[in-house]
Amino acid sequence: MSTLASALQCVRERIDRAASAAGRDASEIRLLAVSKAWPATCLRQAWQAGQRAFGESYAQEGVQKIGQLSDLPIEWHFIGPVQSNKTRILAENFAWIHSIDREKIAERLSAARPPHLPPLDVCLQVNVSGDASKSGVAPEHASALAGTVVALPRLRLRGLMVIPRHERDHAAQRHWFRIARDLKDRIVAEGIALDTLSMGMSDDLEAAVLEGATIVRIGTAIFGPRP
Ligand SMILES: *Cc1c(COP(=O)(O)O)cnc(C)c1O
Repeated sequence: MSTLASALQCVRERIDRAASAAGRDASEIRLLAVSKAWPATCLRQAWQAGQRAFGESYAQEGVQKIGQLSDLPIEWHFIGPVQSNKTRILAENFAWIHSIDREKIAERLSAARPPHLPPLDVCLQVNVSGDASKSGVAPEHASALAGTVVALPRLRLRGLMVIPRHERDHAAQRHWFRIARDLKDRIVAEGIALDTLSMGMSDDLEAAVLEGATIVRIGTAIFGPRP
């Protein structure tokens, strides 16, 4: 087995173990391979090892790889900050956007989604740990933003995405993910159907799965430290 294939296998086993510890079915949790900074050849190897969904953080870099790998039916997710001058290329090229943090961006993505494609699956990025350095809508404004996004014709609101402050301690990691889960439950209780919690990275995927993650976004543990 190649190094990449065995790293992928290891990550899948971590997800399986965390799911059973949480009493969850591992099939509820999707693995998104975060491939930013890695060349298309690495993604192709991951595809050969069975990986089907990839996450990119920079519009130009992502679109370039989408072109290079157009022979593979990859599901492309955009997970980086969305600049308003990039909404068109994102809406034309990606299946998912995890990082909507304001109305204007959502409106532009909806308007730019080409008619021949299905609605764009989207998550709201929420700044659960309130760090000034992190993007994302403040938790207290998430429900209003959800109300706007759910009404846009060419977007399909799926859930919330979070990147909490880095914590080494497992209980502290779970704390931020639990805030995300509670917020999602609150928005659902207000009548907006959400099925996605995009949370958990290489260092904290177990805590995220225990708190209900449905998509984990893993880079380093699959591809190694970014070049
Ligand atoms: C880079 C990145 C990841 C992956 O982080 P790793 O620690 O390498 O697993 C996940 N989510 C987002 C939004 C990222 O930018």
